Amino acid sequence: MFVTEIICPRCRRTFPSGKPVNLCACGSPLLVQYDLKKVKEKLSREGLSGRTATLWRYRELLPLKDDRHCVSLGEGFTPLIQASRLALELGIRKLWIKDEAQNPTGSFKDRGLSLAISLCRELGINKVAIPSAGNAGGSLAAYSARAALDAHVFMPKDTPRANQIEVQRYGARLTLVDGLIHDCGRLVAERKGVEGWFDLSTLKEPYRLEGKKTMGLEIAEQLDWHLPDVIIYPTGGGTGLIGMWKGFKELEEIGWIGSERPRMVSVQADGCAPIVRAFREGKPRAEPWLDAQTVASGLRVPQAVADFLMLEVIRESNGTALSVSDDEMIAEIDRVGRLEGLFFCPEGAATVAALRRLLREGWIDPAASVLIFNTASGFKYLHLWHLG
Ligand SMILES: *Cc1c(COP(=O)(O)O)cnc(C)c1O
Repeated sequence: MFVTEIICPRCRRTFPSGKPVNLCACGSPLLVQYDLKKVKEKLSREGLSGRTATLWRYRELLPLKDDRHCVSLGEGFTPLIQASRLALELGIRKLWIKDEAQNPTGSFKDRGLSLAISLCRELGINKVAIPSAGNAGGSLAAYSARAALDAHVFMPKDTPRANQIEVQRYGARLTLVDGLIHDCGRLVAERKGVEGWFDLSTLKEPYRLEGKKTMGLEIAEQLDWHLPDVIIYPTGGGTGLIGMWKGFKELEEIGWIGSERPRMVSVQADGCAPIVRAFREGKPRAEPWLDAQTVASGLRVPQAVADFLMLEVIRESNGTALSVSDDEMIAEIDRVGRLEGLFFCPEGAATVAALRRLLREGWIDPAASVLIFNTASGFKYLHLWHLG
């Protein structure tokens, strides 16, 4: 166990790691800190070989104290697939797809929720609640079932059918809300005191981020400790972008990678692009997006508590932010399907559309190595398609 404390990146206040925490009193998300010198002494890159093919292979960089509390369904260590036919079609030298569809409930939300539910078990929490735009709800429900926790999921009433159905099959309580994810979040916040729920909203607790961080660790390991030039990521609440960046910093501190970093690209949907707008306007925080609408339900996040951290990552990495249309996403789902045999979700397809645009505009050089994400399985979005 290498955790030292939990720290606020904004006001630097610290919290002990053995007690449940949510946001800092100043309103900022909190981050888990490790004794990386000690990790460096105890663990080498070679030490990973032969370990479990899940995200728990990075045990020393995760906040759980006792392995007996680990709640796992086999999440993480997803394939990194070289996409040569898609690369050829796009006109780029090297393209990898990190296929997060192959997680237990079909999305990368499993990474964060495996960690968070394990921590709940360790910290003695037995009632949890989450607002979800789609995949987080199913993931929370699955891990809570395994850990015998009482789980409550709040979703917009027009959330994809697959997401609503899976929550109920895993035995969680589903509440449909006439509104969007931040309205669901408000309901959780209002009721959690009376109900005794631990609030697992995106970045309102520090544990899910540690699970998402492992995407960065895996990318480094799978590319033999050489990061790609560009990473394109479909951004909602921001855990992936912020988590990967934290992971890269930790890897550098333990001496497994150097100081080079990918340029981080945030993709959003034309119908909900608060981070893109703030990035373009040079602002440190994002204004809430009104009337958010997109088929990429995971990107329908009009307002994020960690907006400032996402914007920092994009700027620090010399990255960029752009939005794409739902029609572009739908067209890319078919292209990737036909060229690579992968059934992308719209959020994943947004990364392909973004790559196409950035190549056309010359922001990405055709000689660069690029990594894109398929964040969930296309099978969760069958409502988008007609037969025939
Ligand atoms: C949640 C989600 C996202 C956004 O992820 P963040 O890391 O919270 O920004 C993207 N794609 C899918 C499929 C999602 O479920």
